[in-house]
Amino acid sequence: MPQRDDIVVMKFGGTSVAGPQQIKRAARRIVTAREAGCRVVAVLSARGKSTDELVATAYEISDKPDAREMDMLLSTGERISCALASMAINDMGHKAVSLTGSQAGIVTDSSHTKARIVDVRADRIKETLSLEQIVLVAGFQGVSTDSRDVTTLGRGGSDTTAVALAAALGASVCEIYTDVTGVFSADPRIVPDARKLPVVSYEEMLEMSASGAKVLQLRAVEYARNHAVPIHCRSSFEDLPGTLVLPESETMERPIVTAVTHSDDESRVTVVGVRDEPGIAGLIFGALAEANVNVDVIIQNEPVADDALADLSFTVERGDLPTATEVIDSLGDISNAVRTDERIGKVSIVGAGMRSHPGVAAKVFEVLGEGKINIEMISTSPIKISCVIPADDVPRAVRSIHAAFELGENAIVPEDPTGEHRPTVSG
Ligand code: ADP
Ligand code: ASP
Ligand code: MG
Repeated sequence: MPQRDDIVVMKFGGTSVAGPQQIKRAARRIVTAREAGCRVVAVLSARGKSTDELVATAYEISDKPDAREMDMLLSTGERISCALASMAINDMGHKAVSLTGSQAGIVTDSSHTKARIVDVRADRIKETLSLEQIVLVAGFQGVSTDSRDVTTLGRGGSDTTAVALAAALGASVCEIYTDVTGVFSADPRIVPDARKLPVVSYEEMLEMSASGAKVLQLRAVEYARNHAVPIHCRSSFEDLPGTLVLPESETMERPIVTAVTHSDDESRVTVVGVRDEPGIAGLIFGALAEANVNVDVIIQNEPVADDALADLSFTVERGDLPTATEVIDSLGDISNAVRTDERIGKVSIVGAGMRSHPGVAAKVFEVLGEGKINIEMISTSPIKISCVIPADDVPRAVRSIHAAFELGENAIVPEDPTGEHRPTVSG
């Protein structure tokens, strides 16, 4: 529970600032924390679906919008939310100042549309806090000191702005206010009896975010782990404890499986008939990395036929598919053909307890088999198993695996005897 004089970073997502009523509600929550004695920095997202609308408008103008100009365009959404919330707070008798990412000192590299934060120069925020004022920061954006251009941090990036500011300011907690009451054992929109998790370790949350649980952006979780920032993910509409994301050493004993996650916004590229010789994989994936394309699942089989040609498949975010195919084409004569599946699905199961319990993978495959769901690719980490499956089968797969591992509301979970790690209410 934040104490008087603590710095608290509160982040409100798109649905939480969708219209005037929601903005006033978020403003009230920020003011309540200020009146409880905290020094408050609030990071806001663009209203409702306004980022999607800006993206759609860009594609009405151009088939391949320029990335620098895309960032100029998309960064406006968050500025609007901050200016409006600042007006609401000022009307409530408090002084608030809204800042762009650049004014707030968020310095990034210059990879437009998925820039990384390289420094946070928080002097202006600290000065403003010392004047007893509330600071509102436009999420999802920064500035590259190399190119002097505005950048954005990838979809969902306001989470990362919030965590980076919490780290730079030594905040006691980074509160992520959203449209669900915490992190659940599966997306509650797909699995109605999904269970809210009181505590999740950074490691589990990393795997969950990486495999599609967009409730927290992957980079935000990485940043939080690297800088030991406690995250409290909670509802902006109800004053309830949410989910704490903490180091593994501070979480209680976990069940074998914690959550089922999914994604249906990935694509697959298959490079058919690749020469089976040293250096080819390095060439392909080096070029993709150079083009800033994140590759997820990769499969390559040793050729069995005499022609020594292999087939290599990998998955990428759907938005990266055009770049990925351009990159492969640019490598010239390395294969016979390139095939793409624009829409594939993925279902994953995550749990720190899986490390020491064999048999989880077999059970996942059996459940999918019983549901006649075909597994097209498999990848594993010590605490995650992911299966690429047809996109239309994703909701059914998530529900069946969630039920088979009994992760729902009636799940039996180990007690936290000390009660120390139960989230506390501050707002
Ligand atoms: P915000 O706009 O507040 O940043 P997001 O849409 O990015 O919110 O993330 C919240 C959404 O994440 C929820 O509405 C929910 O549908 C989805 N979600 C997916 N997986 C999970 C999960 N395991 N737990 C909670 N929410 C999840
Ligand atoms: N507005 C941006 C998006 O929709 C960033 C965010 O909401 O975190 O992706
Ligand atoms: Mg989000």
